[in-house]
Amino acid sequence: MSTLRLKGGRIIDPTQPAVETPQDLCVRDGRIALLDARAPVDVEIDASGCVVMAGGIDLHTHIGGGKANLSRLLMPETHRLEDACGGCVPSTLDTGHRYAQMGYTAAFEPAMIASNARHAHMEMGDTPILDHGAYVMLGNDEFFLQLLSEGGAAGRNFETIRDYMGWTLRATRAMGVKVVNPAGISAFKFNQRKLDVDEQHVHWQVTPRQVLHTLARALRELGVPHPLHIHGSNLGVPGNVESTLETIRALEGLPAHLTHVQFHAYGTEGAKKFSSAALELAQAVNANPNISIDVGQIMFGQTVTASGDTMRQHAQSALGSPRKWVGSDIECEAGCGIVPFRYREQSYVNALQWVIGLELFLLVRDPWRVVLTTDHPNGGPFTSYPHLIRLLMDRSFREEQLARLHPEVAAECALRSITRELSLEEIAIMTRAAPARLLGLSERGHLREGAAADIAVYREQADREAMFQVPDCVFKDGTLVARAGQIVAAPTGGTHFVEPDYDRGIEKRLRAHFAAQGAVQFDNIAIGHDELCRCCNGGRLLPAACFGASP
Ligand SMILES: [Zn+2]
Ligand SMILES: [Zn+2]
Repeated sequence: MSTLRLKGGRIIDPTQPAVETPQDLCVRDGRIALLDARAPVDVEIDASGCVVMAGGIDLHTHIGGGKANLSRLLMPETHRLEDACGGCVPSTLDTGHRYAQMGYTAAFEPAMIASNARHAHMEMGDTPILDHGAYVMLGNDEFFLQLLSEGGAAGRNFETIRDYMGWTLRATRAMGVKVVNPAGISAFKFNQRKLDVDEQHVHWQVTPRQVLHTLARALRELGVPHPLHIHGSNLGVPGNVESTLETIRALEGLPAHLTHVQFHAYGTEGAKKFSSAALELAQAVNANPNISIDVGQIMFGQTVTASGDTMRQHAQSALGSPRKWVGSDIECEAGCGIVPFRYREQSYVNALQWVIGLELFLLVRDPWRVVLTTDHPNGGPFTSYPHLIRLLMDRSFREEQLARLHPEVAAECALRSITRELSLEEIAIMTRAAPARLLGLSERGHLREGAAADIAVYREQADREAMFQVPDCVFKDGTLVARAGQIVAAPTGGTHFVEPDYDRGIEKRLRAHFAAQGAVQFDNIAIGHDELCRCCNGGRLLPAACFGASP
């Protein structure tokens, strides 16, 4: 048995009534425990003058799978530069260390291609300290599109699709499902260059609306805690807020998470025909309690964008800086596009993107439905989170930064008149409590008795960037992993995944499908428990409970 007491810190746990007075937080064998104040402990740490929060959880960060390696391969020159792109797609070792140094203890890869699941798990297993999980991509794979198409508008194949989704989640050991540009990645292979919510795929004759509703409904019937993770139609296109609002309507009240919404909140007003539609989108989120979002804030500087959205990445490839790109595909399941990008303060478009992200953070009222992300590395590397937190908490700092932007944006944007400054409690919600709740991680994201002892201890400082950059200490399952920015232990993180029930009858049909079309035999596709454990470097397996089916 090992015990720990963090003495006299200010505990910020949004799942419990706020307590202003300093408290002790105790840990026994890796779990938060209620110990008598006089009970002797193995280790006691003075946390006076500090804020104590649960470990941070990043629910959307591209840290596993083919895209990360392709990005590193595409940008060899930048690895030689200090603080350059080695920083925007760090190695697995650096990724684990840098997250832990900031007080983060879990990260989720949002775009795992089913046929690449082994690689994604191995790469995350090679990332030290962090717990991890992944969302498998569906909605552009041939098997799904064929079923949807043959089922017609009446949705006759719904049960088959639901079972296929259940099988896919289990076979790939995924934590959720992401749809990227619904049906659009596939449509690109048939030479379509855009696909709006009600446009038909030329070959399969289905619309993104059908894809969205079918996937969201199937996930709910399987009882998967994390709702459909949606990268909507028309990413990056001026005026795409209409597609985003239509996406929300297409769900008809089903729970869903809209990701990197900054890239999906553009209007067409003004001389440049590019404007912020953050207010319209925030109003829609405020009015639809079934919807949660993460922002995908952009940060100025060099990065690389890595996305499953081959259609949109192809369209943006001419804007690449440096100008080169990769597009690829495996097994006709989804897609992949990598485009290097440099966001500039003096670019009208980039400056407005920065403004739109901050407006979304500040205009959505319920922090439980907004998660802090930069869509690492697409909007900027995750290492910029402390800077982003300061922008959200400190209005005068925000105004200083705003004044450096393209003059038209600085003078005219609505952000200028937004006075809201987020509180420490709201930051704790957006960076740990809300992502834990949205993922169904009942033991993480809070500090109640019995929770996993993932803890970050930040010294109170007026400069919130400095405060969140280097916590005094960080614990993973009760083990001290970072102290004053130094990694002192690197335990292997665990793997989160779901195991929904489904009708095994689907396997006969899948066996025939893979025999005819796949590169891998059906029997070799599913990742078993032992193999997952090996893939993930011996880390713990952390299956998340599914809730009862609710048709
Ligand atoms: Zn995406
Ligand atoms: Zn992403």
